[in-house]
Amino acid sequence: MIIGQIKNGIVLDHITAGMGMELYHMLGFDKLACQVALIKNADSKKMGKKDIIKIDEEIDIDLDALGYIDANITVNIIKDGKLLKRTHLEVPERVENVLKCKNPRCITTTEQELPHIFKLVDREKKVYRCIYCESKGNELQLTK
Ligand code: ZN
Repeated sequence: MIIGQIKNGIVLDHITAGMGMELYHMLGFDKLACQVALIKNADSKKMGKKDIIKIDEEIDIDLDALGYIDANITVNIIKDGKLLKRTHLEVPERVENVLKCKNPRCITTTEQELPHIFKLVDREKKVYRCIYCESKGNELQLTK
């Protein structure tokens, strides 16, 4: 496993300890051709323990999806071995093609091209509802 520095790529830091592997699969990192390192139970001043994922390539990551899954994660973009940008995630107000509407009468069932859009209705409980039919969203479905 590569624990050292990456030259150009992305480091997902402050992942809730134990969630790294799940995230790795959810975001399809298992399908990447580049080097990906998953570090479990790293020491964290802030959190006690945390997971870290290092990706040795600049890939597009859906930050809304990531924010939905775990808003505590920080996304670090590394360029030429230096930190270029650090993004703190938030629980997104709206997610597109992150959750799937399961209501069989929802328009997204018949109109397959329609994006599945959900709006945050309860920030504390993290409840999202389909903008078309108001169904609650709970099934994660990343369409990438
Ligand atoms: Zn719906």
